[in-house]
Amino acid sequence: MTSKNTATAVRATVYGYPRQGPDRELKKAVEGYWKGRVTADALRETAADLRRSVWRELTEAGLDEVPTGDFSYYDHVLDTSVMVGAIPRRHRAAVETDALDGYFAMARGTQDAAPLEMTKWFDTNYHYLVPELGPDTVFAADSRKQVTELSEARALGHTARPVLVGPVTYLLLAKPAPGVDPGFEPLTLLDRLLPVYAEVLADLQAAGAEWIQLDEPALVQDRTPAELNAAARAYRDLGALTDRPQLLVATYFGRLGEALPVLAKAPVEGLAMDFTEAAAANLDDLAAAGGLPGKRLVAGVVNGRNIWIDNHEKSLATLGTLLGLADRVDVAASCSLLHVPLDAAAERDIDPQIGRWLAFARQKTAELVTLARGLTHGTGIIAAELAANRADLASRTGAALTHDPAVRARAAAVTAADCRRSQPYPERSAAQRAHLGLPPLPTTTIGSFPQTAALRTARADLRAGRIDEAAYEERIAAEIREVVGYQEKAGLDVLVHGEAERNDMVQHFAERLTGYLATRHGWVQSYGTRYVRPPVLAGDVSRPEPMTVRWTRYAQSLTGRPVKGMLTGPVTMLAWSFVRDDQPLADTARQVALALRDEVADLEAAGTAVIQVDEPALRETLPLRAADHAAYLAWATEAFRLATGGVRPDTQIHTHMCYAEFGDILPAIDDLDADVISLEAARSHMRVAGELAAAGYPREVGPGVYDIHSPRVPDPDEIEALIRAALTAVPAERLWVNPDCGLKTRGWPETCTSLEHLVAAAHRVRRTV
Ligand code: GLN
Ligand code: ZN
Repeated sequence: MTSKNTATAVRATVYGYPRQGPDRELKKAVEGYWKGRVTADALRETAADLRRSVWRELTEAGLDEVPTGDFSYYDHVLDTSVMVGAIPRRHRAAVETDALDGYFAMARGTQDAAPLEMTKWFDTNYHYLVPELGPDTVFAADSRKQVTELSEARALGHTARPVLVGPVTYLLLAKPAPGVDPGFEPLTLLDRLLPVYAEVLADLQAAGAEWIQLDEPALVQDRTPAELNAAARAYRDLGALTDRPQLLVATYFGRLGEALPVLAKAPVEGLAMDFTEAAAANLDDLAAAGGLPGKRLVAGVVNGRNIWIDNHEKSLATLGTLLGLADRVDVAASCSLLHVPLDAAAERDIDPQIGRWLAFARQKTAELVTLARGLTHGTGIIAAELAANRADLASRTGAALTHDPAVRARAAAVTAADCRRSQPYPERSAAQRAHLGLPPLPTTTIGSFPQTAALRTARADLRAGRIDEAAYEERIAAEIREVVGYQEKAGLDVLVHGEAERNDMVQHFAERLTGYLATRHGWVQSYGTRYVRPPVLAGDVSRPEPMTVRWTRYAQSLTGRPVKGMLTGPVTMLAWSFVRDDQPLADTARQVALALRDEVADLEAAGTAVIQVDEPALRETLPLRAADHAAYLAWATEAFRLATGGVRPDTQIHTHMCYAEFGDILPAIDDLDADVISLEAARSHMRVAGELAAAGYPREVGPGVYDIHSPRVPDPDEIEALIRAALTAVPAERLWVNPDCGLKTRGWPETCTSLEHLVAAAHRVRRTV
């Protein structure tokens, strides 16, 4: 740990902050505007208030430079598209008529114009709107939003640093516009885009910006030499401008690798890098490269995307090394604080002792200021904070919650045999056929059925104490009777209980496993006005009692057809939660897998012959760098096999994944050793079925033949055509017929008709195979 007195002040800074407000005021205002209950002026006023209070909060916390431009009504990548004039043709009229309505039209679509596609922002759970570009794209600078927000902050007396998505990342996140050759590479537009950035930089300089932050997280991914050259060119050109503020290129979400020398050599004044554990190589790489003489280094030492307190001693040690490597070092969180909730102090239901382990955006900001003070004035001045930090970390390490000897002993005793089915696929497949006696092309669904208003009312009534547990359970039972009765009538072969009792596929299990905590106010933006409250996986995981057996058994008691048990897989249980940082992810996954294994065993013992373990997050959790894929896939697939490997050969294990580019994980899908996989495929015309077949996938597949993402009812001919398309890739003995996932978001009328059409189409094809 450093305790030296440094001559120059070390400052704390953040790259961005939660936008929603303490009570999700932004969500309420935006949705109110959409419904016509809030005027455009009132919405603008709410937004300006929220920005003001963030700046005030950051300044009062001790930051002397606040970010601006990171605020967004919907998404910062969409804001960048507006800033560079990349408005899709189909939205231009709307944008010209009214900028705000046009903006929301791009985000949400209108009757006649589809919205921009949405996809995940790197490996976070934030989703951005994908820019659509083509050879005809004409960029034009529109710096109004950036200039307005900068001016607002300056008028309030703040020193402000505008935050922009950098030009290289912007182009790398874009896709060819509809109608453009799918091979078109948006990065080829760099030379056309740079003058637009130059104009924005000049405008911001004129408006008083001293520094600009250009976010380039795409440079922590594997990049080709051509892409690295483009980055070098971009920053050489922007650096060469005379009319510009100083440039801070911000990188985060991992190690820079081969992009480090490119940025270190670029004529920019500052570089922000990730120095959290996952990017540990950055420290050595930077030292090996000779540091950043003459530049401002912003050191992302505090993890900006988890919710745990920092380890100050470790951070100070890292910062101590970094102080020798640049002219000026700022202390920062590793990325924008957009990805964490606002305030851990609001969590009054969490045991105060455990609450002390948590740091949300406000707490992280305070940590940064503490670290900066310690580096500036010597650690003596933060002795109290350091002592408290040590005590909190020690209480976490020593807590019963994080160290359950029984869970640890069991996880340590796992053998390779536990992660293997007792028979290879061909043998157990025959046993399953005999056991289940299903027709060819068996029909099923992915698990949920429409979550009706009655169900939501029942949950609200229970929460408010208007009905008791028994009355609530009777409503669930009634719903299950209806769902099972309907499926029998519709003629489906493998039924589900419909997930009526589940609010969310992760939260439902998190509430029933030890080791998980729930938050009351821990909202983070998923996309637009959608916020989620991920559970916190804080301790060792075990399953005190069965979680799904009761309702599955009940559903099975109502029918002679097999009812599928329905569980959420270990990777998804981690991916959609905040996970502990005090042990490897693989260890946490193994604990969750063991808890699920118990559930699988109990379902089997209760007579469940088909058990589905959903893993929609398997692909999205793939690390950003290819070099890290194998290690991830090894523990991820092992966790799935550990959860499911203990069943009898004649018990059929299903898994399910949502739409994704599977490409490089096709072998891992095979490694799960599930008997059946269902996948979303309707919108991509069964492409995934062909990909699996081409990869030699040997087991059964159910590519979705009915797109449930719209209320549109597909007719039997259309479904039949999709089944026949799937049959060109998957032989009839191995093909299942099911819709895409997520019937819970649909209404009953369209669900009924669509499933009846699905069964009719399956029967037609069945007669011909
Ligand atoms: N079993 C879940 C459901 O049908 C699967 C959800 C999902 O695919 N994400 O709702
Ligand atoms: Zn899905």
